[in-house]
Amino acid sequence: MREAEWVDVVVVGAGVSGIGTAVHLQQSVPGLTFTMLEARDAIGGTWDLFRYPGVRSDSDVQTYAYAFKPWTNAKAIADGPSIRAYIEETAAERGIDRQIRFGERVLRADWSSSEARCTSTVQRASLDDQSARTTRSPKRICRSMPRSAAVSSM
Ligand SMILES: Cc1cc2nc3c(=O)[nH]c(=O)nc-3n(C[C@H](O)[C@H](O)[C@H](O)COP(=O)(O)OP(=O)(O)OC[C@H]3O[C@@H](n4cnc5c(N)ncnc54)[C@H](O)[C@@H]3O)c2cc1C
Repeated sequence: MREAEWVDVVVVGAGVSGIGTAVHLQQSVPGLTFTMLEARDAIGGTWDLFRYPGVRSDSDVQTYAYAFKPWTNAKAIADGPSIRAYIEETAAERGIDRQIRFGERVLRADWSSSEARCTSTVQRASLDDQSARTTRSPKRICRSMPRSAAVSSM
């Protein structure tokens, strides 16, 4: 059994969407706690996964970039490594990289109206086991369950 912990928000995935979401959460709701669960071991999602020669954006990256961090490179169609570096830089600048839990895949999320709580069942790649992460506002807890309990709920 793991130590109990609550968070206000669980962000799933450290791609461009997840990192952007985390920044907006920080800006819009100061003091809100969140954790980011990323199944893989890297930031960037699509832009880390695809590394074939010539990988690039389809559209202009000025409109693809975050409003809070304008794209300053002169090239409108950006290469994949540049976009990945941009996402990584954003995460580092905002301290989000320290809040990412790599190797944790969300298997399911269950909302309970009676408890006003969302419980996410998480598989941790490195440890090859499962735990349950619970969010509820305004209290903070992230509760872990024995492996058997999490598995039996699937
Ligand atoms: C070559 C190419 C060019 C593109 N060009 C453009 C473009 O010009 N404009 C445009 O708008 N879009 C473009 N796209 C689409 C691009 O995929 C999206 O713009 C964007 O990268 C999606 O970001 P995302 O964070 O939503 O998802 P992803 O980048 O897919 O990231 C999702 C992340 O979540 C993680 N994850 C997924 N499921 C779980 C889970 N259950 N538990 C934990 N972690 C999980 C993944 O490991 C991943 O890291 C392009 C895509 C490609 C491949």
